[in-house]
Amino acid sequence: MRLLIMGPPGVGKGTQAKGIAEHYQIPAISTGDMFRAMKGQSTELAKEVQALMDAGQYVPDEVTDRIVVDRLGKEDAQNGWLLDGYPRTIGQVHALDKYLEERGQKLDAVISLVADEETVKSRLLKRAAIEGRSDDNAETIAKRMKVYHEATDPLLDVYKERGLLIEVNGEGSVETVDERIRQALDKLS
Ligand code: ADP
Repeated sequence: MRLLIMGPPGVGKGTQAKGIAEHYQIPAISTGDMFRAMKGQSTELAKEVQALMDAGQYVPDEVTDRIVVDRLGKEDAQNGWLLDGYPRTIGQVHALDKYLEERGQKLDAVISLVADEETVKSRLLKRAAIEGRSDDNAETIAKRMKVYHEATDPLLDVYKERGLLIEVNGEGSVETVDERIRQALDKLS
């Protein structure tokens, strides 16, 4: 199974990605987590990534594409994967298309998690209090939302046109949303 999970910051992609990936025994690969793992490294690249994340901006496509391609080449990703937070730009969509095409592979589905703006904002602020992520402050959240709506929202139409998009209501408990996603995915097979 090769899946994408998309949605605005705070919609619960990371949480749901873990449950779904475990269920289908594939790795959940989060570009946000991979970039956060670079924190504290003293390379120029790590510093650049940290500064962009803290400003709520996207990391350049060539950096992001490379990190994803490397990760997808790992042993545990040979039978499928769930990408969380990638692609986020049209350029990244094209990079992923090329990667799949070269291997004769296809995406099975793109899960689009949907929740209203208030739910999403309150979840982010709650996470800020618990996890202390440096990009979860009111100012950066607003910027991330704006960047998301401008750069990433249009990708939903791309996948919709390809017949891959599954819209899932992201409101409710973690278990409720997990159940909705599984039901939708089970219909595929
Ligand atoms: P969220 O979706 O809640 O904003 P993530 O953990 O997925 O959180 O991403 C955090 C940050 O990592 C983003 O704001 C961005 O700076 C960077 N990032 C993650 N994925 C990508 C991507 N595919 N392209 C560019 N930047 C990314």
